[in-house]
Amino acid sequence: MDIGNTFVVKKLCPICEQMTRVVKTRSRIMVISRDEDACIHYKDFNPYYYTVWVCEHCGFAGDETTFTTKIPDRHLTILRAVLLTKNIKIPFTEERTLGDASTAFRLALKFVELIHGKASKMAKYAHQLAWVYREAGDTVQENEFLAKAVQCYETALAKEHFPIGELTDNAVVYLVAAIYCRLGERQKATSYLSRLISDKSVREREPRIFDKARDLWGDIRAARKK
Ligand SMILES: [Zn+2]
Repeated sequence: MDIGNTFVVKKLCPICEQMTRVVKTRSRIMVISRDEDACIHYKDFNPYYYTVWVCEHCGFAGDETTFTTKIPDRHLTILRAVLLTKNIKIPFTEERTLGDASTAFRLALKFVELIHGKASKMAKYAHQLAWVYREAGDTVQENEFLAKAVQCYETALAKEHFPIGELTDNAVVYLVAAIYCRLGERQKATSYLSRLISDKSVREREPRIFDKARDLWGDIRAARKK
């Protein structure tokens, strides 16, 4: 892995309030291909390894937004009660291995669970961890985290207000379909896809999602005929 794709910055940990080193990735990395569930494959580098920052002092883990957005006091109380007493030591490393990346994502998932945080955030972590396993060729763990991601996306669709960042609810419906398709659950995939394809407003307002949904629908139909 080329170290030239990353650089180290210092950030304040919201939990222990010490400065910790974290790794950021450069934005210009060559894209090789994109999977239908939005996983991007890059040349000789996997930026998903670095999505989750981990505090080298207390072990708090979360994405950049989590570290840089104010955490509500009631959540800080819960997280500090766990982290400041447990003495989790995760050594800082600029170049992460598969194991390091997996640990970072699993910790981040645990902390969202602990505060009963947003399903959309859990979905993002689980989905990206599945992509990390996909690239490593570990289908068993990939599918385990795809299943977790799809379940969290469905909860998010039912409970959260969209758009979340740039993610619209239709984009999530598409992702859910794409993940079910990957997991071999074609019936569930097509039922989500039909929600998009039969909705005229999707075709008009989000033509890119409409086209992707129609393409995936076509792929599933073609696979069924084989
Ligand atoms: Zn910390």
